[in-house]
Amino acid sequence: MKDEKSYAEQLKEKLCYNSENAAEKLSEDELNTADSFCEGYKSFLNSCKTEREAAAYFKCLAEQKGFVPFDKSKTYAPGDKVYVINRSKAVILAVFGKKSLCEGVRLTAAHIDSPRLDLKPNPLYEDNKLALLKTHYYGGIKKYQWTAMPLAMHGVVVLKSGEAVKVTIGESPDEPHFVITDLLPHLAGEQMKKTLAEGISGEELNILIGSRPIKDDEGGDLVKLNILRILNEKYGMTEADFLSAELEMVPAYPVTDIGLDRSMIGGYGHDDRVCAYPSAMAALECAEPEYTSVCVLTDKEEIGSEGNTGLRSSYLKYFIEDIAATQGLDGRAVLSKTQCLSADVNAGFDPTFPSVIEKLNAAYLNNGIVVTKYTGSRGKAGTSDASAEFVAKVRKIFDGNGIVWQMGELGKVDGGGGGTVAKYIAELNVDVVDVGVPVLSMHAPFEVVSKLDVYMAYKAFKAFFEDKE
Ligand code: MN
Ligand code: MN
Repeated sequence: MKDEKSYAEQLKEKLCYNSENAAEKLSEDELNTADSFCEGYKSFLNSCKTEREAAAYFKCLAEQKGFVPFDKSKTYAPGDKVYVINRSKAVILAVFGKKSLCEGVRLTAAHIDSPRLDLKPNPLYEDNKLALLKTHYYGGIKKYQWTAMPLAMHGVVVLKSGEAVKVTIGESPDEPHFVITDLLPHLAGEQMKKTLAEGISGEELNILIGSRPIKDDEGGDLVKLNILRILNEKYGMTEADFLSAELEMVPAYPVTDIGLDRSMIGGYGHDDRVCAYPSAMAALECAEPEYTSVCVLTDKEEIGSEGNTGLRSSYLKYFIEDIAATQGLDGRAVLSKTQCLSADVNAGFDPTFPSVIEKLNAAYLNNGIVVTKYTGSRGKAGTSDASAEFVAKVRKIFDGNGIVWQMGELGKVDGGGGGTVAKYIAELNVDVVDVGVPVLSMHAPFEVVSKLDVYMAYKAFKAFFEDKE
C-alpha cells in the first residue's frame, strides 16, 4: 500500500508530540529575513543595556535617517521627520503624514528601561579587606537570580564640576567584571530553608569590587581607598561624586542564539527592547505615511511609569500638543483621534511551568506577536481594556499584511498580574491595545525570545504606521 503522507507529516509523526508552531507556515525566505533582522536586534542589545544608551542609540540612528530636533515654531510637510529627547532617557520619533493631524496620529509606545540593580547614593564600603558596593534593585526581580554571575557597570557620574562622565565597565573582554557572591551549599543550611523570595535579601545584593589594598601604607580601608584611587584615575571622580551618579549594574554577557536550530535569542533586557527596537525601526523607515507616525521609547515603565521620563509624565502629551499647534489644532483634538499600539512583552508559555497559564489564552513562542486586550490583576484591576472595535481594527491590519499574531492573557485569572503603559495612554483619551513579543524567563537576567516573533513585531508596527484606513 502506498504511503500518502508527506515527508513532513511522517517526520512530525515520528518526532513531534504536538505542534502548533506558526514557523511551519512561513517560507524559508521569510524565516531568513526574520533571522537577519534579528542580527541587527542582537547588536543593538549588546550595545544598549540601559535607557540612556538606548536613547542615544536611537537618536544617532534617527539623525542618520534624516530626523531633526522638533522645533515647535516651524511648520512641517508630509514626510518631514523629527525627534525629541527627554532628559537623555526617553525618545519620541515622528514622521508627519499626508492627512491633517485632526485625524489623529498612529502611535507606538515601548519602554527602554529594564530591571537591574542601581548603586545606592553612598555605595562603597570595605569589610574584612574586601571592597563592596551597596545596591538598590530597580523593577521586579527575583533577587536570587542576580548572584554568582558576571556583572557590568553602566551609567553616568555628574562630577562636582558639573561635568557628566559616562561609565561603562565590563563590556569588552579585556575589562574586569563584578559579582554578587552567594553562599556555598556546604554552609547554606539556614539559607536553603528560606523561600525563594527571602533566600537573598535586598541588603545582600552587594557587589564585590576589589580586594587589594594600597601598598606600603597604614590605616584602615586601604582596599576601598585603592578602588577610589582607580575610579579617580579613570573618571576623575571622588567618593562624594557617587551622590550625583546613576550607576546601574547589569549582566555582563552578550546576547546569544539559543537552540541547535538557532531559532531564539537569549540575553538581558528583551523586556522591553524587543518591542522598542522593532517599533523604532518601523518608525525610522516610514517615508510619507497617511497618518502622522509617532514612536515613543519611554523610561521608568518597570517602576510604574513614574518620574518625568516615564509615561505618567506629560512629555508625550506636550509633544502632541506642540505638533497639533503647528497645524493650528488643539492637542486634545489630535489625541482623541489617536490610535496606539502599546508595545510591551507578554509571558510566553513555558512547558516547565504550565500551571500558571491557561492554555486557551496563553501566548506561545513562534506564534507571532501577541495582542493583549487587557493586563492588570484580579477583576481586570489596573488595566485599560481595549475595545472590541479597536481590537478588530488591529486584527484587520495584521491579517491584511501577513503578520503572524496571536491573542494572549498574562497567566491565569487570579494567578498574579502586571501592567504596561497602555493605561496611561488611555488616560489621554487614545484608543490603545497592548501588542508585543512573548518572552520566556521574563525579568530574569537572561530572557529568551523567538526570532520569528521579533520580526513579526517589526512587520506589525510597520503595517500599523503604513495603514491608510
Ligand atoms: Mn515591559
Ligand atoms: Mn517588565
